[in-house]
Amino acid sequence: MSLILKAVENIPLIKKGDDIAEMIYQNTPEIADKDIIVIASTVVSKSLGLTFREEEIVPSAEAERIAALNGKNPRFVQAVLDESLEVFTETPFMLVRNKNGHVCINAGIDASNVGNGLLLKLPEMPDKHAAAIGKSIERKTGKKISVIITDTNGRAFKDGQTNVAVGLYNIKAIRPWIGEKDLYGKILEISEEAVADEIAGAANLIMGEGGGGVPAVIVRGLDLYTDETVSIADMYRNEEKDVIVRSLLKLKNEK
Ligand code: GDP
Ligand code: MN
Ligand code: MN
Repeated sequence: MSLILKAVENIPLIKKGDDIAEMIYQNTPEIADKDIIVIASTVVSKSLGLTFREEEIVPSAEAERIAALNGKNPRFVQAVLDESLEVFTETPFMLVRNKNGHVCINAGIDASNVGNGLLLKLPEMPDKHAAAIGKSIERKTGKKISVIITDTNGRAFKDGQTNVAVGLYNIKAIRPWIGEKDLYGKILEISEEAVADEIAGAANLIMGEGGGGVPAVIVRGLDLYTDETVSIADMYRNEEKDVIVRSLLKLKNEK
């Protein structure tokens, strides 16, 4: 088995209203059935016009309170609160669940690879945008493809960041191993491989985090296509099942 990952070259700086599907289509010599197109959330957000300036935000008393704890600008803290359903930690950084259910630092608000003085939010309905881009590329090519929208996140327990999936279209995001046998015939009871995140991480080897200018990568060689409706929300663990989230909330409530 072999896997091919290929940068989509020549994508310009994305502005509000840009047609990302058309740009990917124009700059990809060949798109095949079952190709997975990995797209950085940064460019999806830019095309949706989700940039803003800190000065535009009016901080609430709650934002002022948290800012006094973590030393951030209260306007920035307010922007994070505006994008969050739930706050798990306030200091030294804000770990939150964003409106789409994704747990990350600062609700994914990002200042890198955006124009000077601007901040960028994550798309509120990433699956919807993954589907719109995917369907548009399918119409142009006549091929059946999958899309993963990604963002770079830190992890608990380890230094370093990696790309993760934040939006999905037409992809089986989890490869179930439960019920399969291991090398010695033992039945696997827990293993579910988070393939969408693995692909996101692999694609980021080509994207990088800096000025490389590669916001899209074509992944070929995997058999993960589905035409069923899929949602990234299915990958987010319920709070009742999530031991770490429960511990964080317990700590917060004890304060
Ligand atoms: P994030 O992980 O979604 O926050 O995105 P990053 O800021 O890490 O960017 C991922 C890749 O996309 C890097 O190679 C960036 O240089 C590239 N990138 C970001 N914005 C643009 C853009 O507007 N145009 C192009 N061509 N590349 C971009
Ligand atoms: Mn980001
Ligand atoms: Mn990144």
